[in-house]
Amino acid sequence: MFELNDKRAVITGGGSGIGKAIAHLFARQGAHVHVVDLSDAACLQVVREIREEAGRVTSHACDVSRQADVEALMAAIGPFDILVNNAGIAHIGKADTTSEEDFDRVMSVNVKGVYNCLHAAIPQLRANGGGVIVNMASVAGSVGIKERFAYSTAKGAVMAMTLSVAKDYLQDGIRCNSISPGRVHTPFVDGFLARNYPGREAEMFEQLSKTQPIGRMGRPDEVAALALYLCSNEAAFITGTDYPIDGGFITLN
Ligand code: NAD
Repeated sequence: MFELNDKRAVITGGGSGIGKAIAHLFARQGAHVHVVDLSDAACLQVVREIREEAGRVTSHACDVSRQADVEALMAAIGPFDILVNNAGIAHIGKADTTSEEDFDRVMSVNVKGVYNCLHAAIPQLRANGGGVIVNMASVAGSVGIKERFAYSTAKGAVMAMTLSVAKDYLQDGIRCNSISPGRVHTPFVDGFLARNYPGREAEMFEQLSKTQPIGRMGRPDEVAALALYLCSNEAAFITGTDYPIDGGFITLN
């Protein structure tokens, strides 16, 4: 079950957190993994770790917000079967406290970055006879999170892109779904707490954990397991759907 034998998988933001867990799991399940990340050092570290486990992996430093770079990247990678649009950045602020610069920065990575990868990847997937796309959304995209205006807006767009792509390329054999994690303990959360609550990280970590009805944050490997299922042949009947993985955040709060 859930094997990815000889599938070629491109994972953006694969240098850290959820993307790194997906890269490890996909490689263990037999995929050749292409780790894409802004950080060359993070990419190379993941590559070293996966190779130590005898996995097949290639690293690509790339900023997904830059279309020309993404087009060149996809051309260099060549044909592949799976795209996980996972790269994303966090931001705190309400509509009236989010600067234009910050709004544009969040959109350029979290929305345009996904568009850039879809734009470059879909012709390849189609020429290949199909493939699977998983976009990393967030519970923020469907129910919103207080003081996450730009982030929630961006993740709502990711969910809409997922539906659009699922409809437009169904006949090309391309399945497209999104995952909406609740809070997952990754460097994304640690960095967010350090930037916004210096000196109060531990206290805020506890508070954030309690916002999940299940009483804890998720783990990257739990999200990776869902991504694996959605990318596997066992999920061949699933497209155009968003999957919350949130300890009950959406339904039980
Ligand atoms: P993370 O910060 O640990 O990892 C994100 C990775 O993306 C980093 O390695 C970073 O270098 C890379 N990245 C950032 N900008 C990039 C760019 N322009 N081009 C290429 N790579 C870039 O974050 P994470 O917690 O693993 O989050 C991964 C995804 O999951 C994000 O889309 C995030 O919005 C989403 N998400 C996370 C949580 C959470 O609580 N951690 C919750 C919901 C959704």
